Amino acid sequence: MAELKNVYLKNVYETVCKRNAGEPEFLQAVKEVLESFEPVMERRPDLIEAGVVDRLVEPERFIQFRVPWVDDNGKVQVNRGFRVQFNSAIGPYKGGLRLHPSVCASIIKFLGFEQIFKNSLTGLPMGGGKGGSDFDPKGKSDGEIMRFCQSFMTELSRHIGPDTDVPAGDIGVGSREVGYMFGQYKRLRNEFTGTLTGKAIPSGGSLVRTEATGYGLLYFTEEMLKSMKNDSVKGKTVIISGSGNVAIYATQKAQQLGANVVALYDSNGYIYDPAGIKLDVVRQIKEVERGRISEYAKRVPGSEYHEGCKGIWKIKCDIALPCATQNELDLESAKALVANGVMAVAEGANMPTTPDAVEYLQQNGVLFGPAKAANAGGVACSGLEMCQNSARYSWSFEEVDEKLKGIMKNIFHNAFDAAKEYGLEGNLVAGANIAGFLKVAEAMKWQGIA
Ligand code: NDP
Repeated sequence: MAELKNVYLKNVYETVCKRNAGEPEFLQAVKEVLESFEPVMERRPDLIEAGVVDRLVEPERFIQFRVPWVDDNGKVQVNRGFRVQFNSAIGPYKGGLRLHPSVCASIIKFLGFEQIFKNSLTGLPMGGGKGGSDFDPKGKSDGEIMRFCQSFMTELSRHIGPDTDVPAGDIGVGSREVGYMFGQYKRLRNEFTGTLTGKAIPSGGSLVRTEATGYGLLYFTEEMLKSMKNDSVKGKTVIISGSGNVAIYATQKAQQLGANVVALYDSNGYIYDPAGIKLDVVRQIKEVERGRISEYAKRVPGSEYHEGCKGIWKIKCDIALPCATQNELDLESAKALVANGVMAVAEGANMPTTPDAVEYLQQNGVLFGPAKAANAGGVACSGLEMCQNSARYSWSFEEVDEKLKGIMKNIFHNAFDAAKEYGLEGNLVAGANIAGFLKVAEAMKWQGIA
């Protein structure tokens, strides 16, 4: 990544580096965002005067706690829980919970920081937060998952609430986990409110929430292709990394829009099916059996399974959608994609593309949809779930889907227009950061030094 030129931003970044030494993911996320702010700072000395960026990079609150639980053998286990309440200038903190052994302060802070801009871009009143634990749900029984989730919520419940902080799912947290946490929250607080989103429909969940991130990613990609290349997803060959919530519903919507999705992966390896991924088989393996993607090749003739993830990016495609985890698409992968003629990359996961890979793709004319914009459909739909809970009302699938489509189109155009206004036409990374930032910055300035 380039050196920061603006002295104010450079000083802010140096302080962030000193305060958060040993937190590479968080520093990577902050640096990328600050780079985008350079042209804004030239025009907005008032924001420097109000110390907006100095305040923005420091979480309002960071909570770390012990999560003790008892496994099926009667043995006591201890995990570490986190919640970062990063910024509440435009609404209650909002952001998912991640359960994965790699979870640490750096990962939670990078995710919480990005969430500020993403939530602002949706146009809904939501601040930025994120949380999780280093608990590994893989291989755990239902009973173990429930005991862990109840213990996690016993502490987290003190810090959240419908007008304070509203968590949701992320890696390792789907409907089952949200259910156990919601049940425990309700017991502890004796209230039935929309404090968590991603709830099951009979408990106040919103239709389309399960599909929203993947669907939103495709609505964004479609709008990006239409506006910037006068093209569409129809007839394109697509590869998608991951095989979890985001990847599955991105595949479904891509197929509905007429694309041929040929590859998916999990953390062990990837499947390639040139005839087109059979999504019912994937859903049976991943959603019902909670199994490994390698099973697919055993069940679908003509498909292949390869150990290791990296090979997926060498498959020839028109569109690549990284939908698994941070830094999964590196420079070497970006070079392979460009050599094979990729025309667009849009991020379903958070920060899945390394900074040098983003630069390479942009320099080679590949349309690039950054996570903050492209995967905002999930949190946007969570915002719609909050609206429905507050109103004690529920909208139909079609109503929510239509609203989601509108929000994703708006996000694309806001990012595109902001980039153009600041002399960076076509750079959606900068445009998304700037558009998301300006709304939060105005609110922070208006609320005084707080
Ligand atoms: P899931 O837990 O449902 O799925 C995650 C998928 O990514 C699994 O296939 C998993 O494989 C794979 N994966 C995880 N870690 C790695 C790794 N280190 N290397 C390779 N593959 C890996 O999570 P989601 O689909 O919900 O989330 C995926 C991404 O999308 C995350 O970055 C998340 O932050 C982001 N996101 C999710 C939203 C949502 O609404 N769910 C909203 C916005 C962003 P395995 O099963 O082997 O671990």
